[in-house]
Amino acid sequence: MTHNTNQSTQALLKKHNLHIKKKFGQNFLVDDNTIQKIIRTADVNDQTTVIEVGPGLGAISKSLQQNAKGLIAYEIDDDLIPVLNDMFSAVDNFKLYHKDFLKTTIDEDIDNVSFSSDKLTMVANLPYYITTPILMKCLESSKRINRLVLMTQYEVARRLTASKNTKDYNALSVMIHYLTNATFEFKVSRNVFIPAPNVDSAVISLTRKESLPDIDEAFFFDFIKQAFKQKRKTLVNNLHAAYGLPKADIIKTLETESFNPSIRAEGISPQEFVNLSEIFKNIL
Ligand code: SAM
Repeated sequence: MTHNTNQSTQALLKKHNLHIKKKFGQNFLVDDNTIQKIIRTADVNDQTTVIEVGPGLGAISKSLQQNAKGLIAYEIDDDLIPVLNDMFSAVDNFKLYHKDFLKTTIDEDIDNVSFSSDKLTMVANLPYYITTPILMKCLESSKRINRLVLMTQYEVARRLTASKNTKDYNALSVMIHYLTNATFEFKVSRNVFIPAPNVDSAVISLTRKESLPDIDEAFFFDFIKQAFKQKRKTLVNNLHAAYGLPKADIIKTLETESFNPSIRAEGISPQEFVNLSEIFKNIL
């Protein structure tokens, strides 16, 4: 662990008499090396505006603000607002929204900032208790966020970026691969945070796909959820339970599409799920 960020984090906590709040998922990153790796992975330049959820004590924020066109940050904790305002008082490419990211309208906030760009990159060491809601909100409600570099719990990072036929592959992995090009970037030890969480972390990057197939997305998302509902069951059994189709019909359809009728959801790739969901939508 390098000294700078660790010492400045301790100094900030003391100076502002701050107490770390578990309820907001606060684990402050205190390793310069990890911060630099995140910044390199984010690959931002003076054309890119960055969004950060939960800047905390600003460990990643300072480098982001300096390298990017500007930084838009959301922080929920009242006590951290003066620290951040202090840190960025001399710059005009930093906007702090003091609010719950899950309750905001992202595109409106983006439009209200003079240094916004058309496409934005999100960089965040996420509060782990709301990883999936934050991720889904970004992917579903702002098409302008086209790249996300996120620190999550290690196991979650594995699941989000998993490929078929691995134990981590699930409905969320399929959805992420459908919407983005997803990469597991690097693992991060639990020892580079104050306080140290109980598990290791990892950084992933998700780049939104420029075009998506013309399908019924609502049905597709439900279809993958149903397909994985009972992971140990075959696809035939899960689809039968979800949609009430006769098993013989499901088997026939799978065989026509060259699938073994005993296949489980974990053996089906995201692209194959897209095709199957359209076929089953038409049968139902
Ligand atoms: N970025 C800092 C770092 O890497 O050291 C802090 C990361 S800490 C894991 C998560 C941060 O998200 C905390 O500052 C916390 O207060 C903030 N936070 C938690 N829930 C939030 C929410 N719903 N909206 C905005 N910020 C939130």
